[in-house]
Amino acid sequence: QDFRETLEVTPLSTTDHIEARRICVCVRKRPLNNKEITKKEIDVVSIPGNGALLVHEPKQKVDLTKYLDNQVFRFDYAFDETSTNDLVYKFTAKPLVQSIFDGAMATCFAYGQTGSGKTHTMGGDFAGRQQNSAKGIYALAAQDVFTYINHRRYANMDLSAYVSFFEIYNGKVYDLLNKKAKLRVLEDDRQQVQVVGLEEVYVSTAEEVIKMIQMGSACRTSGQTSANANSSRSHAILQIVLRRNERSSTLHGKFSLVDLAGNERGTDVSSNDRSTLVETAEINRSLLALKECIRSLGKNSDHIPFRMSTLTKVLRDSFIGEKSRTCMIAMVSPGMTSCEYTMNTLRYADRVKELNGNSTSSGAAKVQEPLDSSTEEESVVDASVYD
Ligand code: ADP
Ligand code: MG
Repeated sequence: QDFRETLEVTPLSTTDHIEARRICVCVRKRPLNNKEITKKEIDVVSIPGNGALLVHEPKQKVDLTKYLDNQVFRFDYAFDETSTNDLVYKFTAKPLVQSIFDGAMATCFAYGQTGSGKTHTMGGDFAGRQQNSAKGIYALAAQDVFTYINHRRYANMDLSAYVSFFEIYNGKVYDLLNKKAKLRVLEDDRQQVQVVGLEEVYVSTAEEVIKMIQMGSACRTSGQTSANANSSRSHAILQIVLRRNERSSTLHGKFSLVDLAGNERGTDVSSNDRSTLVETAEINRSLLALKECIRSLGKNSDHIPFRMSTLTKVLRDSFIGEKSRTCMIAMVSPGMTSCEYTMNTLRYADRVKELNGNSTSSGAAKVQEPLDSSTEEESVVDASVYD
C-alpha cells in the first residue's frame, strides 16, 4: 500500500498516537525552487511510496519497474515534495514529544546539504524570516508540549517546561539565548556531561517558546559578514526540557531538536582558506561521531563513542539508556546538479538506519549500497582525511 494514500485521508489531531521508534530514519525531498526551474534544473529524485526513494537518470518519465530493488533506498518514511511540515512533523517529531512525557530522552536531527530544507523543516520559514508562513517542527513540537502538559493524563505529574537554545561552531558551544556567550562542556566522574552556564528559560506557552526561537535565530545570524555562511556551518540545538516541580526540579524528559551543519564538502576542500578547512574537518568529525553514536544505540552497545565530538558529547543523554529515542530526517534537493550531495546524504542515512530493527523488517537490510559500491571509508563524513 502506498504510504501517501494512507496519509492523505488521515486528519492531523492530537489524539493520534504513533509509538516512537527507538531509531527512525526518514528522508524528505524539497520541491525545485523558482531559480532552479528558471535554470531548467532537472528533478532526478523519485519517491514512489512505501518509504522508497530513487535517484535516477534524467528522463521525462521514469519507468520504476526498470529499476532493480537494490537501486532503491528504503527508509521508515520518504516524504515527497508535496509533503507539508505538518505531515512530516506528525510522523517524525510528534511521537518523540509524546515520549518525553513518558520520561524519554528524545532527539530529532535534520541532516543534509546546505539549501536542502533543514531549517525550513525545523524552524519553518517563520523563524526569524517571513511571518505567517509554514510552522516548522520547533513550533509544532512546542504547541504539543503544552497540549500534553495540560492534559489530564500528565497533570498529576506536575511538570514544567524549560527551553535552551545553543549553537556548536568549530567544536565550541555558544548560547543563543545569552548573547552567544561561549560555554564550556564538562564531564564529571560519573560521565555526566554539563554545558556550564547554559540558559534554561522557563516557558509556560508555545508562544513563549517561539519567541525564544526567534530571539535565538536572530542571535545566530548576527555579526556575520556573509549572511548564510556561519549558520550553515554550525549545528543549532533547541532543547525542550521537562522537569517535575517537586523534589528539586528532577529531570523528567528532554527533547533535543538539531538543525545540523550542512554536510557538503568538496568546494570547501579545494579552498586554500585554512579556517574553512578547519571548519569542514570539524563538521565532518561531528557528523561521523553522530553516525557512530546512533549506530551504537541501534546495536544496544555498551560503548557509545560520544566523546568523539562536542555535538555527541552534549547529546550524550540521548544515546544511552532504554529510553533513548532518535529520529533523523535526511533532506535532499531534487536537482541533478545536487545529485552527488544527495547520494552522500542518502548513504549516510542508510548507514544510520542499517541496524534499526524496525526498518529491516520491511526488507530494507538488503539495500545497503545502492547505485555504487563506495565503502564506509570513502563516505562523506570521513573526518580523518582533513586532520
Ligand atoms: P538548509 O537549512 O538545509 O540550508 P533551507 O531550509 O534554508 O535549507 O532551505 C533553502 C530554501 O529552500 C529556503 O528558501 C526554503 O524556504 C526552501 N525550502 C526548503 N524546503 C522546502 C519545502 N519543503 N518546500 C518549500 N520550500 C522549501
Ligand atoms: Mg539552514
